[in-house]
Amino acid sequence: MARFEIDDVADFVVVGTGAGGATAARVLSAAGHSVLMLEEGGWLRTEDRPRDMVGAMAASMRDAGAQATRDAAPMPLLQGVAVGGSTAINSGIIWRLPEDVRTSWTRDHGLGELVDARGLDAAFDAIERDLEVAETSDDLLGHNGGLMRTAAERRGLPGRAMVRNSKRCEGSGECLQGCLTEARRSMDVSYVPMAMRDGARLHTHCRVSHVERRWGRAVGVVGDVLGADRKPSGRFRVRARRGVIIAAGVLHTPVILLRSGLRGQVGKRFQAHPGSAIVGRFAHAVGQGGGATQAYEIPMRARGFKIESLSMPPEMLTARLPGVGAEWMERIAQLDHHAHWVAQCRFEAMGRVRVGFDGRPAVTYHPTARDVGVLLDGLALVAELMFEVGAEEVYPGVHGVPEVLRSVDEVAALRRPGITRADLHMVASHLFGTAVAGRSARDSVVGPSLEAHALRGLYVMDASVFPTNLGVNPQHSIMGVVHRASAQLANQERAGRWRWAS
Ligand SMILES: Cc1cc2nc3c(=O)[nH]c(=O)nc-3n(C[C@H](O)[C@H](O)[C@H](O)COP(=O)(O)OP(=O)(O)OC[C@H]3O[C@@H](n4cnc5c(N)ncnc54)[C@H](O)[C@@H]3O)c2cc1C
Ligand code: SF4
Repeated sequence: MARFEIDDVADFVVVGTGAGGATAARVLSAAGHSVLMLEEGGWLRTEDRPRDMVGAMAASMRDAGAQATRDAAPMPLLQGVAVGGSTAINSGIIWRLPEDVRTSWTRDHGLGELVDARGLDAAFDAIERDLEVAETSDDLLGHNGGLMRTAAERRGLPGRAMVRNSKRCEGSGECLQGCLTEARRSMDVSYVPMAMRDGARLHTHCRVSHVERRWGRAVGVVGDVLGADRKPSGRFRVRARRGVIIAAGVLHTPVILLRSGLRGQVGKRFQAHPGSAIVGRFAHAVGQGGGATQAYEIPMRARGFKIESLSMPPEMLTARLPGVGAEWMERIAQLDHHAHWVAQCRFEAMGRVRVGFDGRPAVTYHPTARDVGVLLDGLALVAELMFEVGAEEVYPGVHGVPEVLRSVDEVAALRRPGITRADLHMVASHLFGTAVAGRSARDSVVGPSLEAHALRGLYVMDASVFPTNLGVNPQHSIMGVVHRASAQLANQERAGRWRWAS
């Protein structure tokens, strides 16, 4: 019997097909290299994706959305596990790398070449053309987003219609379940097929366990082929003639690196943008379903948070309504009268990812008192904005604060001292920093070219390499940085710097 169910070879093997992996595959294959993509999840065809939220989460999210930090108050960490990675389940919000972050990465982390303004802007321009990036039009704001715009205008806040990679959006409000019309240009319907048109190949249901090395360089990966039950049904090996690119996302990339013998800063600088939502009830219908899933935002960068409209399917919104019995039934009967807005925060806390006893990522992460203050400030502003546009009731969802606020004066309860992390529920879907890039091998895992300091021919190309979080939605910055690094790699390999024959 063959030892490996799949035994394959390519110039470059790319592990993971999310924002980072798919971009690397697209750039390298367009430059004429042979590329093989490995993806733990399946390729969920648009028409086969479950439309109900619970089914959609089970089909496309890591642990059906139950992956969380290990803590007395666990924080869910949402990630996609499918072709397209987390982009297959996201809202398509697009932000270029903020200038203050670019400056800090240049000055404090020696990444000036990687994030050089001209080069990075050219990468962003190319991605925006490829992924049909456009500002959300007024008719797609929906009432949920439209109400937020009115609130921002009344308070003189810097709100804006979101820029998203879905110019042809029809406003079905179902981005998280997968876009039926494929208007949202997630990686599974854009860069993965584009790379395949240029000759790249893809093996799905292949979970990489570690990188193989020979003569001091990375020469391939091995792992498990997964069956329909997601359990191992065989082994695979893929050899890489020129480079191994790990892009398994912020929690799984460090696990692969640690299993492959890398140490130092691997897993140590985990960061996030945790967020929490507030629901408000209005006298008139709000209608969650009308408009884009996420449409309007109010960036409050100096205060460390951003407010976003987020339409929720009924089964999720219902879970946020307070009360029991007749009171609860009365609120449910008015489900379409509720707005749902989120405060997404740039936390300062740094956590750590280790390999857990079960072989999966074990994440420790403790938001600081300052972080708790930032989130409460964001939630208080959300509540004030809802009252500004006529909310009758606001449900803050914070332990120790009344579960229903009925006037703007009651919002002060969210600013009272004594509320701790354990009183708050948060979710994080923007994750960073477990294999950071930098100049020195002591302080970072990969150099400015994203090649590992400790192993030649091994590259990390996902959000793990970000030395700090951003304060804005990350997919575009990830794609931009990887676009640049993989274009440099393609050119360097074409010039024949490394040549390793299998
Ligand atoms: C619900 C949700 C909504 C979001 N909304 C937005 C948004 O609107 N705008 C925005 O900018 N960002 C958004 N984000 C964040 C954004 O999608 C991620 O930051 C980005 O996709 C991360 O890119 P990545 O390449 O690091 O990892 P991912 O995109 O997560 O890709 C990692 C891939 O690696 C695969 N993988 C993992 N382990 C292995 C293994 N051992 N072997 C093989 N394959 C493996 C995974 O299955 C996955 O496909 C959202 C995220 C979520 C979860
Ligand atoms: S709101 Fe609907 S049509 Fe628009 S991008 Fe999202 S899923 Fe597609």
